[in-house]
Amino acid sequence: MFSKNVLAAIFCLTSLVAEAKIVETRHIEDVIPLIDDETWLLVDLDNCMFEGAQALGHANWFYDELQLRMQKGMSREEAIADAYPCWIETQKACKVKPLENSFVPTLLMLQSKGITIMGLTHRQPSVADSTVRQVHSLGFDFLTTAPSKESFVVLAKTPTLYFQGILFVGDYNKKIDIYEPFLSMIKKTLPKKIVFIDDKRKNVDELESLAKYGIDYVGVHYTAIEHSKPVYVREIAEFQYKLLNQIISNKAATLLMESGLECLRLNVELS
Ligand SMILES: [Mg+2]
Repeated sequence: MFSKNVLAAIFCLTSLVAEAKIVETRHIEDVIPLIDDETWLLVDLDNCMFEGAQALGHANWFYDELQLRMQKGMSREEAIADAYPCWIETQKACKVKPLENSFVPTLLMLQSKGITIMGLTHRQPSVADSTVRQVHSLGFDFLTTAPSKESFVVLAKTPTLYFQGILFVGDYNKKIDIYEPFLSMIKKTLPKKIVFIDDKRKNVDELESLAKYGIDYVGVHYTAIEHSKPVYVREIAEFQYKLLNQIISNKAATLLMESGLECLRLNVELS
């Protein structure tokens, strides 16, 4: 017969033995059965919740820009620092679109059931305003059922920000290294289960260690981007960049309009 104390210890130990697993899918609907009332859903943004609607400003454009710099001898960190001003500039104008039309309606359905949902992105705080505008443009607001409505910084070597229900961990930090302290900062009971959807396998793998807190974890490696028609084409992005923030002449505008191109404003968008 176990004493009360021993039973309590056994309960504590068993409650800490949580499950962690990774699944792979290209369909957001497959996430729905993984979620119950006590689950928090974490959502990656680029190439997951949305992708750039045009070549310039697409996440793959940014990755290509990094690659070009690294081929010239820069470290990854140096390449990010060098390319980021352009990324900030483009995100101010860049429109986004969902990879699956059912993605946002699925999130809205889960929000209507009171499921806690938040964004978890490698984007840096310097694009927070542009990012929130992009998310809102899809008819979604993370704040509705976010774990906290406050805005705050999670201390790290490089800037982070929790803002409008989205945790911006920055390109230099691992998602798990910022998410762990975030959980302790929001002063809420830890969720029983976390489901994290991201297009990069390494990101979903990282959060497996949440199981050590007794949190059941399912990482969803979401592969819709691998099956979608490519939006990023380097030559198109280069042309679009030349026209970014330029007021073009009436003659040039007329020529472009006669060529059948639309969307002539301060920015020319080819989507
Ligand atoms: Mg992503």
